[in-house]
Amino acid sequence: MHGNARTHAIVRKRVIDWYDKNGRKFPWRSTTDPYQILIAEMLLRRTTASAVSRVFNDFMSNFDSPKKLAQASETTIAQFLKSLGLQSVRAMHLKKTALIILKEYDGEIPNSHANLQALPGVGSYTASAVMNFAFRESVSLVDGNVIHFISRVYGIRFAGPTDIKAWEFMSRVGGQQDARLYWGIIDLVATICLKKNPRCSLCPLSGICDWFSKSGTTSKAT
Ligand code: SF4
Repeated sequence: MHGNARTHAIVRKRVIDWYDKNGRKFPWRSTTDPYQILIAEMLLRRTTASAVSRVFNDFMSNFDSPKKLAQASETTIAQFLKSLGLQSVRAMHLKKTALIILKEYDGEIPNSHANLQALPGVGSYTASAVMNFAFRESVSLVDGNVIHFISRVYGIRFAGPTDIKAWEFMSRVGGQQDARLYWGIIDLVATICLKKNPRCSLCPLSGICDWFSKSGTTSKAT
């Protein structure tokens, strides 16, 4: 499928409509609190939304502010993150980030991509996600899910999430960069557009998907 403005608009609409009806409910998707969204996005690195959802509420009730997080020991923070793995590294980044937010930003989450990206454990994707989901900035996002999605739907392969061309491509696909587009992509990849045996018969994009039109079957996987 060609990546022109019309097809981008169709993809965008179908994903958002599907998300509105079928999207998964997570606590960090129903808030605009930048602190909760930053914590969620930091935890979502290298793990699934389902895994994070099992620890998130408990974590937030124990560390409900940057101050509480900054005052806790790394060992204590890590105990809440055991099931996610990498808990020591995650705890170190979370505590350092909380200390910087307290000292440099008076306890407020910085409303700037550059300042967010400079926080320990916060990469370009996480900073973009916070700008989009918390501050409602029209910022595109690219991670492994998005790369997989573009490859399937458009038949276009990018080198990976750091490929600047992929970010440029998503800035055109996303239009106003509605958060629901990205949550929809995440959920489609997690539940429908599986790497093996995608469930194309349930997919809102099967009528325009490059992979589906070429495979001619719902059972073949790339
Ligand atoms: S039609 Fe199939 S391959 Fe294409 S996006 Fe949907 S689930 Fe993925």
